Amino acid sequence: MSPPVVTTVAEVRAAVDAARADHLPVSLVPTMGALHEGHAALIRAGTGFVVVSIFVNPTQFGPKEDFAKYPRTLDADRAICAAAGASLIFAPSVDEMYPSNSFTSVEVGTLGDLLCGASRPGHFRGVCTVVLKLFNIVGPDTAHFGAKDYQQARIIGQMVRDLNVPVEVRVEPTVREPDGLALSSRNRYLNAPERAAAPAIYRALQAAHMRAHAGEVDAARLESALHAELSAIPGARVDYARVVDAYTLQPLARLDRPAVAAVAVFVGTTRLIDNVTI
Ligand code: AMP
Repeated sequence: MSPPVVTTVAEVRAAVDAARADHLPVSLVPTMGALHEGHAALIRAGTGFVVVSIFVNPTQFGPKEDFAKYPRTLDADRAICAAAGASLIFAPSVDEMYPSNSFTSVEVGTLGDLLCGASRPGHFRGVCTVVLKLFNIVGPDTAHFGAKDYQQARIIGQMVRDLNVPVEVRVEPTVREPDGLALSSRNRYLNAPERAAAPAIYRALQAAHMRAHAGEVDAARLESALHAELSAIPGARVDYARVVDAYTLQPLARLDRPAVAAVAVFVGTTRLIDNVTI
C-alpha cells in the first residue's frame, strides 16, 4: 500500500504523534526525491514509523546549479517508498519550509568549507538548515543518511553533537550499479557515452584503496595518482580528488589514521561525487 503523502508541518506532527501514541519508534529519511535503490536501502534501515521527506531544497543549490531542472518524480517515488516500507511521505512546498519571513540558518564551520563546500559555497549551510528543520518537525529517534555523501553525513553527525539534537544519525553503505557507479538521482542526466565512462570513477577510487593497502602511506602521491586516473576518463573534468582525514576532512601527510578518498568529477555537465574509506 502506498504511504500517505502530506505537505504541511502540522500534518506530519499529527501523524508522528499518533505513531508515538502507538509506542512506535520514529525514523526519518531525508531525500530530494527522484528515489532509487540507494534511498530504498535507507528506508529499509528505518524502524517503526518511517517518515521519508521529499523536498528539493533550494537553499543548498548555488545560483548556477540544477535546482530548476532537478528531477521531480513523485509518483515513482511513492511506489519506491511503498515497496521499501515507508509509513509517511512528507513532500512540503518551498513556502511551507521557508515562509517569506525566514531568517535563521545553521553556521556549519570549517567542515562545510572543504571538499564539496569549496566548490559549492553555502551548500552545507542549506543542507544543515533544512535537515535541522526536518529533525525539529519530525522529532525522529533515528535519521538515515547514505555514505555516498560522506561529507554531508560527517557534517550532520557533527551538527547533531554540537547542537545537542536528540536524534541518532545512522549512515548506510553506498548502493552501486553492477558496474560500480554509485546510484544517484543525477545519473539520469548522463547520455550513453557519459554513462559508459562514469564507472571509471569508482575504479579509480578502488585503485587508490588498493594502493593504500599495498603499503602506500604518502597521501599526496595517492592523491596525484587518483587525480591522474580520473582526468583520463573521456569527457571528464575533475572538480577535486582528495585523500583526507576521515574525521576532520583536512589534508593528510601520511596515512596514519582513518582516511577517506573523496572525489567530485564532472562527466559532461553532470557533477558526480563518490568516495571510499581507507
Ligand atoms: P539525495 O536525495 O540525493 O539528496 O539523497 C538523500 C539521501 O540518500 C542522502 O542521505 C544520500 O547520501 C542518500 N543516497 C543517495 N545516493 C545513495 C546511494 N547510492 N547509496 C546510499 N545512499 C544514497
